[in-house]
Amino acid sequence: MPAHHFIANTRRPASDDRTIPVIDPADGQAFDRIARGSAQDIDQAVRAAQAAMGEHFDGPWALTCARDRGRLLAAWGRAVLEHADELAGIEARDTGKTLRTARNDVLALARYFEYYAGACDKLHGETLPYDVGTLVMTVREPHGVTGHIIPWNYPVQIFGRSVGASLAAGNACVVKPAEDASLSTLYLAEMAARVGFPPGALNVVTGYGAEAGAALSAHPGIRHISFTGSTVTGQRVAEAAARHHCPVVLELGGKSPQIVFDDADLDAALPVIVNAIIQNSGQTCSAGSRLLVHESIHDAFVERVAERFRALRAGPPASDADLGPLVNRTQYERVRAMLDTARREGLTEAARGRILDGAPPDGYYQEAVLLRAVPRDSVLAREEIFGPVLITQAFRDEAHALELANSTDYGLVAGVWTRDGARQLRMARHLRCGQVFINNYGAGGGVELPFGGVKSSGHGREKGFEALLGFTALKTVAIRYGRNA
Ligand code: NDP
Repeated sequence: MPAHHFIANTRRPASDDRTIPVIDPADGQAFDRIARGSAQDIDQAVRAAQAAMGEHFDGPWALTCARDRGRLLAAWGRAVLEHADELAGIEARDTGKTLRTARNDVLALARYFEYYAGACDKLHGETLPYDVGTLVMTVREPHGVTGHIIPWNYPVQIFGRSVGASLAAGNACVVKPAEDASLSTLYLAEMAARVGFPPGALNVVTGYGAEAGAALSAHPGIRHISFTGSTVTGQRVAEAAARHHCPVVLELGGKSPQIVFDDADLDAALPVIVNAIIQNSGQTCSAGSRLLVHESIHDAFVERVAERFRALRAGPPASDADLGPLVNRTQYERVRAMLDTARREGLTEAARGRILDGAPPDGYYQEAVLLRAVPRDSVLAREEIFGPVLITQAFRDEAHALELANSTDYGLVAGVWTRDGARQLRMARHLRCGQVFINNYGAGGGVELPFGGVKSSGHGREKGFEALLGFTALKTVAIRYGRNA
């Protein structure tokens, strides 16, 4: 299939015919090409979305009622489940994630469509008390055309949560997937057209972030942007959007702590803590990447984690490996550079997993690594690594645990492991982040649960009903009907 965008329900090549190779992270070889979008292509996509909305919200998509939007989303969700294996295969090949992870992502995508399908016709305004003889109501309306900049780590899930909610609220979407993970997005857009979304409701322009992504965030026709990715790029997107007064939801990185007290159920905590950092090879914004353990049990518990780490195997997506390759060479080199820094800082490596025999030598495989008792000012304790690297720190008491947990610039998720109910509540109250898990850890899971950060982890909320509200603009209508004589 020639490289193309998907605009107004049709495949279109880049306006200057340029393309980008698609690399398989399992062996470093190109296996496909995508279109290299430009500002001109973004403009075409925005115009198609504007036509679907109509200048006065009188276009075909704007006139599709909530019930019918819900039916379309439900049909799309069913189609995703019918093609789950095919979609998971595309995602695993494109991003390097294991087939198991890719399949979970596809199931989560279907859940987003189900959830937002059911929510469309429950999204309503209120009536407000005001002067006698005046009826005041609020109406939830779409913003218009929304922009969605999707990263490469959870393409279908992030597509589902952001595009699903936006379409449910009645907006038309222009999506720019990451150049390393565009194939599933193109596939989903064609599926949307097949289940009946009208032309222009959903448009996809592929290409580089600095070209197509920058053009999308700067386009004055975009009335809301959802961005998931790095803090630096998030700032750029927000600056560009501010120039045309466009609201932005930023879901940026994290350095999320898992805090283990000495009264915790350690057997329950152990597998969850390991999974929360190796899932998707650590390329997860909400990865539990700092393990804070009470000093009385730190050494013994860290040794139990180390035992698990030594058994972890990185390998190709189609093997039974615990971790797939990292998504691309840049990410691989970024993680290796962090591990070089750890060596230079003299940090202690408590454990390292291994790479499966027979994994292609040019693939981007990184073993799981456990770094023990890392000082809080180390870059490894402060910055997102976005690879399968877990650091540990010992704390003295609850206050010290909180101080360490809140000590980074990030604030996305925290996990707390303790049986003490009052301590659970105190920790939940004082942790500076967007989600707190007590005696479990969601790693962003649960389509119903609002998700997002504070500080450098971003602002605004994805997922759940909260996200749906964010995709609407509230209009207040006051009707003067007078009084009885
Ligand atoms: P980026 O933030 O650069 O990329 C995220 C998305 O933004 C991609 O779709 C990218 O497109 C796009 N983009 C890049 N530059 C611009 C721009 N100027 N204007 C608009 N959109 C743009 O992340 P990277 O892929 O470079 O990864 C770097 C680090 O970011 C990772 O190591 C990790 O720490 C963090 N990250 C966090 C994620 C999260 O879930 N919060 C997800 C991904 C990364 P393209 O990829 O085509 O350039």
